[in-house]
Amino acid sequence: MALTTVCLTYDFDAVSVWIHTFGAGNAPTQLSRGVYGAWVGAPRILDLHDEHDIPATWFVPGHTIESFPDRVGSVHDRGYEVQCHGWSHVNPSTFDTKEAEKSEYERAITNIEDVTGRTPVGFRSPAWEFSTHTLEILEELGFEWDSSQMGNDFRPYYLRKNWSAPADGPYEMCDRKPSKSGQRSS
Ligand SMILES: [Zn+2]
Repeated sequence: MALTTVCLTYDFDAVSVWIHTFGAGNAPTQLSRGVYGAWVGAPRILDLHDEHDIPATWFVPGHTIESFPDRVGSVHDRGYEVQCHGWSHVNPSTFDTKEAEKSEYERAITNIEDVTGRTPVGFRSPAWEFSTHTLEILEELGFEWDSSQMGNDFRPYYLRKNWSAPADGPYEMCDRKPSKSGQRSS
C-alpha cells in the first residue's frame, strides 16, 4: 500500500464569514448558517477526527472565539492546533492603515491565547490575500508561517517583500537564483 501524507486544516469561520465577507448584516437565515458551523459542523468534524485519531489544524477568527468560546476551547482541549485567521473575516487589503490591520491581528492573538494558553505562530488570511503591510505585520507579531500563499504544494517556501508585477513586463520575484532542488534558497 502506498504511504500517503494528507494535511487536514479547517477554517472555523462560523458567523464571521457571513457578516464580514458576505455582508449578511442581521439576515437571520445567513447568520444561522454560521451558527450551524459552530453548533453542528465543528463538533461533527471533531468527533470524526477523534474517532480516527487524525490531527488537524484549525484557523479560527477572533470573532468566532469571542462568539463561541466554549466551542473553540473544545477544539484546543481535544488536542487540535488553533492558529490565527484574523479577527473579522475581511480581506487585509480593506484596512485603511497598517495600524488598523495590525490591531486586528493583535486582538485575534489575545483571543487565541485566552482559549489555548498559547500564542499562535501560524496565519491564514481570511481572503487568501495579503495587503502591502501584512507580511511585515506578521513578522512584527512573531508569526513563523502562513498558509495563504500558493506558490508550492508540498514544500514550504519563503514569502517575498520585493516582488514587482508590472502589467507591461515580466513578474520580478526577487534577485535570488533557484537552488538545485528548484526551491529558492531564502
Ligand atoms: Zn475563513
